[in-house]
Amino acid sequence: MHLKTILNRVLKFKSFVYKSIRWVEETQEPTIEVEIIPRLNSRPVCSKCGLRGPGYDRLKPRRFEFVPMWGIKIFFLYAPRRVDCPRCDAVKVERLPWVTGKHRLTDTYAWFLARWAKRLSWKEVAEVFCTSWDHVFHSVEMAVQWGRKHMEMSNIEAIGIDEIQWHRGHKYLTLVYQIDAHCKRLLWIGKKRKVKTLLGFFRWFGKERSHSLRFICSDMWKPYLKVIAKKAGDAIHVLDRFHIMAHLNKAIDEVRATEVRELKAKGYEPVLTKTRWLLLKRPENLSKKQAVKLADLLRYNLRAVRSYLLKEDFQFFWTYKSPYWAGRFLDKWCTKTMRSKIEPMKKTARMLRKHRQLLLNWFRAKGQLSSGVVEGFNNKAKLTTRKAYGFRTYHAAEIALYHTLGALPEPKNTHKFF
Ligand SMILES: [Zn+2]
Repeated sequence: MHLKTILNRVLKFKSFVYKSIRWVEETQEPTIEVEIIPRLNSRPVCSKCGLRGPGYDRLKPRRFEFVPMWGIKIFFLYAPRRVDCPRCDAVKVERLPWVTGKHRLTDTYAWFLARWAKRLSWKEVAEVFCTSWDHVFHSVEMAVQWGRKHMEMSNIEAIGIDEIQWHRGHKYLTLVYQIDAHCKRLLWIGKKRKVKTLLGFFRWFGKERSHSLRFICSDMWKPYLKVIAKKAGDAIHVLDRFHIMAHLNKAIDEVRATEVRELKAKGYEPVLTKTRWLLLKRPENLSKKQAVKLADLLRYNLRAVRSYLLKEDFQFFWTYKSPYWAGRFLDKWCTKTMRSKIEPMKKTARMLRKHRQLLLNWFRAKGQLSSGVVEGFNNKAKLTTRKAYGFRTYHAAEIALYHTLGALPEPKNTHKFF
């Protein structure tokens, strides 16, 4: 069987044919060049308007990298024709079915790399396939652009709004997820976490779609609350469990850090050192050893311990069915916490009190929203931005996030190369 036969099986063009195939001797890596020529009597297609027109002249042959095989690099070699396009009234380069724009990689190879980039970091993909980081990046970029253009945008009823920190320092990204039972994915990314950021989302999303939203989950972040009330007032706005518990954990962290410093200064035995995770994790997620250590720690009348107990007490809130009883519980919990004299916890209680209505919406939406979705996405998003992709720009981070979390569609090819 000839290589040409295989190529015709996996990737056949209407107006072009594979001609000669040769082993290139003068390169370092084993390389095969596949010459492509236009089919007899076929007229070139204008790359600008898509109309066929009379040929004008031919350019120098160009190489387009194809999917490598058995450790051999494969290139298509083709001398593009120029079209004297009647519609554009200009001379244009012809459109080539195996490549998009001015890329040096064939679409097939770019999709191949992009698919691998979902499983490995960009650097790893470049290493495995002996290509450059730039080629991998541009392949993923192409896949994301295609996917964003072809994504299904109907039937979006529930969204979750989240923010993640990226880079060092206080730089944020706002992420909007679709969290419907039938479809969970990253919908949109914006720079920072300002009013303007989220307004950008609603502008992109469109008025009609915004009005048919039924549920929105978010943190208590003021700019978000403001924009949601303005742009999607018909939806039930829920403050989700993940973000609330994150606030409580942050308060405990603060209490503990201060107390550790005080105890040290007073020369007490360091009971609180290395207890951070004991206090932040759910008790059921602790190892046996950690559980013993926690039990030991709880004997002390420390502010960190009392904060921890308040937090664990608050977990009960989420088990209610009726908003009424949940509300009563919340009020009691807030009163108790306000009496605790622990300032970071009091601050959280005040915040919860202030957003009582939105908190209780959790119970009005119950059964239709899953609390784990936003948290799951948040973890994956952090991992994606942290992973050694080697990117520093916002654009690269954006592309990586859409690629890994966007559940973007791909063109339906006849042959899958892996
Ligand atoms: Zn044209």
